[in-house]
Amino acid sequence: MNNGRAILKLSGKILSHGLGEGKVFIYHDTLEHFDQFYNIVDNFQIEDERNRLNQAIIKISGDLNILADRVETEIDSDFAGVFQSHVAIVQDTTLSDEIKKEIADELVSAGSAARTVLRRWEHRFSSMEDDTSRQKADDIRDLTRRLVSALAGIHAHVLNDFPSDGVLVARRLLPSDTIFLASRSASAVLLEEGGMGSHAALFAREIGLPCISGIKNLLSIVRPDNYAQVDAETGTIIINPDAKQQRRFLKKSRQQKLIRVKAQSRALKPVRTKDGTHITVFANVGCANDTMRAIENGADGIGLYRIEKAYMGFQEPPNTVKLLDVLNKTLGPARNLPVYVRLLDIGADKTLPFLELKKEPNPSLGLRGIRFLKEYPNLLQTQIDALLQLSIHFNLHILVPMVTLPGDILLVKKLLNDSAIRINVTRMPKLGAMIETPAAALAVSEIAKHVDFLSFGTNDLTQYTFAADRENGAVDLYFNDTHDAIFRLMSIVHEDVPESPLSICGELAGNSEYTSRVLNCGITSLSVAPLSIPTIKSAVRKTTL
Ligand code: PEP
Ligand code: MG
Repeated sequence: MNNGRAILKLSGKILSHGLGEGKVFIYHDTLEHFDQFYNIVDNFQIEDERNRLNQAIIKISGDLNILADRVETEIDSDFAGVFQSHVAIVQDTTLSDEIKKEIADELVSAGSAARTVLRRWEHRFSSMEDDTSRQKADDIRDLTRRLVSALAGIHAHVLNDFPSDGVLVARRLLPSDTIFLASRSASAVLLEEGGMGSHAALFAREIGLPCISGIKNLLSIVRPDNYAQVDAETGTIIINPDAKQQRRFLKKSRQQKLIRVKAQSRALKPVRTKDGTHITVFANVGCANDTMRAIENGADGIGLYRIEKAYMGFQEPPNTVKLLDVLNKTLGPARNLPVYVRLLDIGADKTLPFLELKKEPNPSLGLRGIRFLKEYPNLLQTQIDALLQLSIHFNLHILVPMVTLPGDILLVKKLLNDSAIRINVTRMPKLGAMIETPAAALAVSEIAKHVDFLSFGTNDLTQYTFAADRENGAVDLYFNDTHDAIFRLMSIVHEDVPESPLSICGELAGNSEYTSRVLNCGITSLSVAPLSIPTIKSAVRKTTL
């Protein structure tokens, strides 16, 4: 692999764990060296360029809709939602009006105008600190490339030529790029830019692809004929390794694989702590593929299905039948296992394609979760009816998001009982409250009286305990879900309501370094990403309570 070339050692930030190696494939974004831009001279040409723009928008909207459908069935409904949002952006008349104005004002081609306007839009988002705005900047850049390429008549994507088992080297990855990686089994990805919350990072973790980012000047250091060894356990990369480095890496890869295979086969069995307490390890899922992957990896059930994932696929509010259909398809493979579905958790950073949310000065502290549902009773009723019908065939548990006061849960309980009588359902689902605010944790007795179980949403519990926005990288230091404050809150809940079954479905559940500490707070159930189940089950086996 070395062939006498210089050995280089690089390092960066791990976005997704694992080991991978292969020949590098350097990906230069077409937008960076594109010269389909020309000036125009008269009003006829202005009209021509505007028509070309309209046609390009129609073309890429169609392409994006097809892509979204493909992603929905093959990968994940979250990613399908990304492309649906691209359709909404490109069809927004504010955007096309601004591009048309640019054509006329500057007398430039539609491609040139589109690039200028979209770069302005991108810049607005990329200068913000939080992950959501940065994701939005990636979305806009992705669309720029799509629109400018369509105007230039280019249809092939550079990654069409990406070889299987190659190591992708790029400045950053946009949502459309990730689709190519899914179908070509890349062995690792190296990036100059991209944070933990970027689309690329979420995607890489989702499919278990090793990924390291933040590698300075990567594109100018690495050459097309180089070979890369990527250790995304330590965050290090060796370019053109020598024979000794090769052997060492191979040994480590084999050991890792062995551990994984062993953990995977053991994960299919139920798990107990060293001193014999049975712990259930469930999966957080977003689509039917996840559910299948969860079961293959030994999930004891589905611990969190965020119902907003089902809603993301609709351009108008679904009725009970349509919603039930999505639930059946997504959760179908887990029909014989316990399944936990959470009611819509909309508000703050999460929205729906068909909803114009009321502007709030401080959305994270406003109408989200159950508070939002109280304002939209029809949306709540549809979910209750669909879930009651689902419970006829499933061992169903319903989770209520952002419960803070007992009234939040009493309202859902009454609605469930009344609706069950109305539609004649006798097999009632179990009801649980998400504990996501310090108030809910500290006064849990009044809430626990009315539910069958409690589940800690440690992502929000951390955000609200530390007053640190979970989407804002600038306060990362304060957003710490392994801080004593979080463990103390969970222990208080266990002491106050020792009879209530406790689970965690936030990210903390998947952090194997803390499994022992988490279980020693009285938690008996963990819900984690499908691929993390074997690791977490291994960590449970090593725990003494
Ligand atoms: C949480 O807050 O930990 C949680 C599981 O819910 P979400 O991440 O969807 O807000
Ligand atoms: Mg939450």
